[in-house]
Amino acid sequence: MVREKGNLSVNTENIFPIIKKWLYSDKDIFLREILSNAVDAIEKHRRLVSLGEAAGDGGEYRIDVKVSKKNKTIEVSDNGIGMTADEVKRYINEIAFSGAKEFLEKYKNDKDDSGRIIGHFGLGFYSSFMVSDKVEIDTLSYQEGAQPVKWASDGGTTYEMEEGTRKNRGTTVIMHISDADKDICEEYKVREIIQKYCSFMPYGIYLTNADDKKSKEDQKEEKPLNNTRPLYMKNPGDCTEEEYKEFYKEVFFDFNDPLFWIHLNMDYHFNLNGILYFPKLKNEFELNEGRIKLYYNQVFVADNIKEVIPEFLLLLKGVIDCPDLPLNVSRSFLQNDGYVQKISSTITRRVADKLKSLYNKERDTYNKYWDDIHPFVKYGCMREEKFYDRVKDIVIFKTLSDKYLTLDEYLDQNKDKHKDIVYYVSDETQQAGYIKLFKDMGLDAIIMPHIIDNHFMQFLEMKNHNVKFKRVDAELASGLKGEEIAADDKEAASEYKCLEKLFKEATGNDKLKMKLENIKSDQMTAVILQSEESRRMKDFARLYSGMNIPIPEEDDETLVLNRNNKVIRNLVRMAEDESKKETALLIAAHVYDMAVLGNKQLDAERLNKIIERSNIILGKIAESE
Ligand code: ADP
Repeated sequence: MVREKGNLSVNTENIFPIIKKWLYSDKDIFLREILSNAVDAIEKHRRLVSLGEAAGDGGEYRIDVKVSKKNKTIEVSDNGIGMTADEVKRYINEIAFSGAKEFLEKYKNDKDDSGRIIGHFGLGFYSSFMVSDKVEIDTLSYQEGAQPVKWASDGGTTYEMEEGTRKNRGTTVIMHISDADKDICEEYKVREIIQKYCSFMPYGIYLTNADDKKSKEDQKEEKPLNNTRPLYMKNPGDCTEEEYKEFYKEVFFDFNDPLFWIHLNMDYHFNLNGILYFPKLKNEFELNEGRIKLYYNQVFVADNIKEVIPEFLLLLKGVIDCPDLPLNVSRSFLQNDGYVQKISSTITRRVADKLKSLYNKERDTYNKYWDDIHPFVKYGCMREEKFYDRVKDIVIFKTLSDKYLTLDEYLDQNKDKHKDIVYYVSDETQQAGYIKLFKDMGLDAIIMPHIIDNHFMQFLEMKNHNVKFKRVDAELASGLKGEEIAADDKEAASEYKCLEKLFKEATGNDKLKMKLENIKSDQMTAVILQSEESRRMKDFARLYSGMNIPIPEEDDETLVLNRNNKVIRNLVRMAEDESKKETALLIAAHVYDMAVLGNKQLDAERLNKIIERSNIILGKIAESE
């Protein structure tokens, strides 16, 4: 062909700085764009062959990427449809460049980060100029008698065309990488980019280091970098459990097996393929940081796109391929797009259905998984009304008696002992004394140690107005109480008066709140109770200490003395006897401290005091023997 030169219809002065700025944080996508074009070109050829419009040679469709640090080039070669000279003019000079311009027109005013376009799709071939001083195309069309064509452009404003060198059908794009971006010209770097964006592309991608002589000899045993048939594209019926686990480990580099998974395979209303995995929790007190990778026709777009994936699902791990997704739109558009919302609610429904079917068909397994999946389910309930509505009856709670019960089951099993109250333990060590009391009296409480549990209980109280959650130390559960002390019981009243005086003096706290009760377990001298409301308020103020929420001043603790207990009864007698007063004060102080000790952690000073006093008490016992 005749050598041809021409101007490209782009005004570099404004287009480059803007596009470069756009791509600054992830300019690696140029390779994804070029490889996507190669895949498209192969796809087109394959279709023509299947329609009988092109001759097939039975050879492997493939994409070769060659990197040379020495020459500062990255070369991408495909054996797809190729282009004739006319097509190069039309597709490259016109479409590729006008496409880039169009892309820019749409977004140049949208500088706000929230408006960023998700995958930069639509920039295509032009994005190669982001990292290149010069780009060359060497191409040969599949058409019979076609001539090879070479196209080159420095900097993307003018081009040259001449006869090409390709002997076989397909296209080679040679990018001469600019000095500023020469770091990209490393084999490991190119491999990394391909593995990130192209690991599920449907045709084999082979990487060679052109500077490395050895690699050419190794060509025969080379393997593609990508998995051309990722598991999620297969029919769920054809996938084995082993394959699901293997795929999980391969994609997420997690050594642990996932608990279970959901294979999404939808073609009704919209196309969507994917697998969502429920991972094992790493740390019981922290929410898992999951990862949902979004793909578009087997091309990676981005991680954790919360505009498409319901936010609470981001605690899971998975891949979702959604070829119908409008990607060259801004994030804010996606957020309000009805189609995207439909995807999101469909995924939510499928996840809820999976959980329900596990619960209904394999309750034991479901219970076993619960410790790992509960943060996810609870978070989901609080974030997404629709999810809550679907799973509310399968939310379960682990209890002190090692059962896993739903809210209704717990309330029903305990309705004779207490109505509409759910007792809970938030810290099994700290509340050990109360737990023992509960167990001794045949009461049950649920275990809620997770940070999310505080919020979740509050949430459930909102949803179930009649139900109250109370920590085991919030009140004396009716099952723990013995005979009620009548209000007009004069004897009890005078005992109380005497004890009140004694304990206020012993603790040096004139505001000490006290109560005298018959506690069933007569071993128990006293317990500290903390009102649920004010404790919650204090916890809340502490949790958000940065927000300067005032911590309630009022002391919410009540010391409950057990009238059934020998020590307490004796204390009344001793307090009235002046000669025994000193010992009575000592015992009272100790009873109080023991009760506090069973309720919270004490500081060193306070503990030392207790030890000191214990020694004095022991001394007294020894003396009296
Ligand atoms: P898009 O791929 O979005 O259409 P591009 O700018 O990436 O936009 O490419 C413009 C056109 O150039 C493509 O539509 C295609 O016709 C042609 N093209 C690009 N790369 C190749 C290739 N490797 N083989 C054949 N044709 C190509």
